[in-house]
Amino acid sequence: MTFQDLNISPIILKALAKENYKTPTPIQAQAIPAVLAGRDLLGCAQTGTGKTAAFSVPMIQLLNEQPPKPGMGRRIRALVLSPTRELALQISDNVKAYSQFTKLRSTAIVGGVSQKTQERALQQGADILIATPGRLIDLINQKHVDLQHVEILVLDEADRMLDMGFIHDVKRIIAKMPSKKQTLFFSATMPSEITQLVKTLLHNPVKVEI
Ligand code: AMP
Repeated sequence: MTFQDLNISPIILKALAKENYKTPTPIQAQAIPAVLAGRDLLGCAQTGTGKTAAFSVPMIQLLNEQPPKPGMGRRIRALVLSPTRELALQISDNVKAYSQFTKLRSTAIVGGVSQKTQERALQQGADILIATPGRLIDLINQKHVDLQHVEILVLDEADRMLDMGFIHDVKRIIAKMPSKKQTLFFSATMPSEITQLVKTLLHNPVKVEI
């Protein structure tokens, strides 16, 4: 099995080759075709399984293949929510690597660093936002972020977001997005609050487990 077998477009294959990715991991082999087909995804996987590329690669391909809806400027078309700054920055680095030959732009919104720099990055426009819930809520409340054109939502490590007390923020962020969107949901465990969120958020999801 190669990435080519998964119908990854040449512009992304080139980036994966540069990163020295040769064969898809099991979660990538399962998730990539489902996401490319437009399906919602429920993934039970730990870090280290290649789950970042499992959602990022098809997300980038969908955004790159579908032109943005007509209108003014560059709008946020995909949002990745992550529980920690470290994980968000890691995802952001990966997204930048996989999309390096496309025209897509991504930016990370995390706490603990200057908000002004992030405001400037948002003003310049981004197609993909990778964020932790706390700082994103602040920027939404201050009208620096508009999520009304989000087409793809990724929730990474949802159980950790619950453990860290972010679930309320996550729900408020989701409420700012259109209900019609593709949702990719990852959680290593499935406590009842997570099952509830899955029920309200996902439509007929493909389940992948590692
Ligand atoms: P993750 O589980 O997403 O944190 O990925 C774990 C590590 O594996 C990261 O350093 C990735 O860059 C790397 N990785 C992910 N997918 C592949 C692949 N198909 N081939 C080689 N390395 C990979």
